[in-house]
Formats: sequence, C-alpha cells, structure tokens
Amino acid sequence: MADKSNSIYMRCGKSVNELVMRLGNRQYEEINIIISNADKTKKMPQTNPFLVQDFIKKSINRHQSIDNMRHTRQGKIQFTTKDPICAVQLLSLTKFMDTDVSTDVIWENISARFLITDIPTTTPLEELANEIQDKNDCLVVELRRFVKLNSNKVISPVLITILGTTVPETIKLWFITQRTQPFVDRPRQCNKCFVFTHGTRTCDKTNICFCCGGDHIGPCQQPPKCVNCSGSHNAKSQSCPVYIQEQKILELKCHNHITIDEARRIFRQKNAKYAVSVKTLPVIPNIEESLNAKFENLLEAVNDRFEQQMQLFADMLQKSMNCIMQNFFKLLEQSVDPSLSPARKKKLLSKFNQISSTLSTWDAGGSSEAEQMSLS
Ligand SMILES: [Zn+2]
Ligand SMILES: [Zn+2]
Ligand SMILES: [Zn+2]
Repeated sequence: MADKSNSIYMRCGKSVNELVMRLGNRQYEEINIIISNADKTKKMPQTNPFLVQDFIKKSINRHQSIDNMRHTRQGKIQFTTKDPICAVQLLSLTKFMDTDVSTDVIWENISARFLITDIPTTTPLEELANEIQDKNDCLVVELRRFVKLNSNKVISPVLITILGTTVPETIKLWFITQRTQPFVDRPRQCNKCFVFTHGTRTCDKTNICFCCGGDHIGPCQQPPKCVNCSGSHNAKSQSCPVYIQEQKILELKCHNHITIDEARRIFRQKNAKYAVSVKTLPVIPNIEESLNAKFENLLEAVNDRFEQQMQLFADMLQKSMNCIMQNFFKLLEQSVDPSLSPARKKKLLSKFNQISSTLSTWDAGGSSEAEQMSLS
C-alpha cells in the first residue's frame, strides 16, 4: 500500500484524489482546495470575478457545491466545498483560465492525528498500517516514528494520520486494544533568529545568541533576555509567554483540524476580542476617577468659600480691633486727665478691665468662631 516508505515514515499509496473521494463516508467539516501557480515564483493573477465565475461554471460541473472562493495572502486561490466530487474536480485542474496551475488539498481540514505507544520498533510500518486498517474503521494516510534526540534510536510511539477528523478512542492491534493519545505538536522555533513563525531553513536573518538576543560570537556573558518577549529568560525557555501562546495555537490547530495560519488568526481574533472587552469592562476606575474629580472640585469650592469667610472674619476682626483700640486710647487719654474725680477714675478702671477681658475672649474664641463660619 505504500509508495514512500522507510523505517520511520510511510505514506499510503493512494493518490490525493482517491483519498478525497473516500472522504464521503468519513467525518469532516469542509474540504479546502488550494490552486497555486505552477511557476512557484509567481502568484495567481487576480482577474475579473465575473470571468472567473464563467470559467468555473464551464470547467467544474459540480460548481454549485462550491461554498467559497478566496485569494490567499500567499497569492493562491482557495476553494471551500463539502462535496468530495466537486473537490476532486477542482484538484484535477491543470489550467486556471490562462495560468498553468498545481493543486493540493489542506490535509489539516480532513485528517486527524493521534499517537499509539508500545509499538515494537522492529515492526515494519507497512505491516502496522495493514493491521490498523484491517481491525479498525480507519484509513491510514501517514505513519511516522520518532527518533530520539542526539541519537539515531527509534522510540516506540507511532504518529498516525487517518482520513477524516474523528480520532478513535481505542485502536485494536494484534488482539490488543490500545488507547489512542492526542497529538499536539511542540512549537517549532527558528534556530537562527529564534522566532516561532518560521523555520530555520526559510530564515533570512543573521544568527543571534539565544541567551541575550545579541549577535556576539562565543560564550554569552550577558544577562538572559528573550528575543520574543524581552523577558529575563533565554529564547528557548518553555516558560516564555510567547512559547506558551504558540503551544495554545498548536492545540487550537490540532483540536479544530485547521492549519497553523488559521489557528494563529483565530487565536489573535479571540485575544483582540478579549482586549476589547477588557478595555470596555473597567467602568469602576472611570467612576472612581470622575468621583475623585468631582470631590476635588467640591473641596476647592469649600476651600474658596472658607478663604472668603476667613477674609471677611479677618476684616471684621480688624474693624473691631480698631474700634476697641480707639475706645481704649480715648479712655487712656481721659484717665491721665488730672481734672478727673476719684469716682470717675474708678469707673474708668472698670472699663479698662472690661476691654481687656473682651480682647482675651476674642483671642480664645476666634478660632472656634472661624470653624463655625466655615461650616455655614
Ligand atoms: Zn529565523
Ligand atoms: Zn548572548
Ligand atoms: Zn520570552
């Protein structure tokens, strides 16, 4: 059944068209067909949509099953349909209007991946694929073994890609029922510039130090600084928020059978919505702010009024003092008058005492009177 097969990788011998046709009795949400320019350096030309429709109607007799057509950012055309026959007709195109084209299906939308462990490393993958298909309702698209890092040793789990988006809970193999395990890829990182959005092979940047993000040669002497989030850890740290975010995107991709770009877009949209809701949510600090502002205005008004009252009070006090002092001097003048009788002098003395007691009352009661005024 295999066309490409070795000890760690096997792909089933069926053509893309045959596999898509067999989707008819599998579960999937939609089939996405990608039409690319046969000349990989060129994009698909954007033509008048009316003419495109005319071309599609003439060359795809199941064109009514096409749910959507769009130009992708990579300069390709993507068709969405639920109809496997329509999908195969689109896959069979070699020319799109005047352009020579190649076609492909987005596998993420129509297949599922899972792991089964404890497969002896000596079992040929082709034998395993036959056993899976004989004893289970599965159509194997691809099998892959893993090689231990830094050695060529093959390890026992096998990654299985099957047609349709339903992952079976168990798999029967050689009389043994095994539980399947979901497979979520680990974030892949560029080994030159350490971003997660492209691989090392397609990187056009210069090599940097993964510890400090600098471009020095030799052992790193700098404190760690992550190139992805500027945090104080190296760019390979699994506690990096950008790494954690990438992992969430991969989970989204795996569980929803979508491409990494779609997963990234959905993740961003979700986060944008969250950011918008976060922006509109905290009405409380706004209320607090306006309350504070109002309170400050009030306080200012009260202070102004208090100052006005204090000024009035001070003026009044000044006038009273002037009046009292005038009387005082008048009395003083009279008291030194030698023509005054002793009885009259006694009367003057009692007036002095009265004035001095009034003065001390003013002094003591002044502040309490000021307080009362500020409250009015
Ligand atoms: Zn890079
Ligand atoms: Zn460094
Ligand atoms: Zn980081």
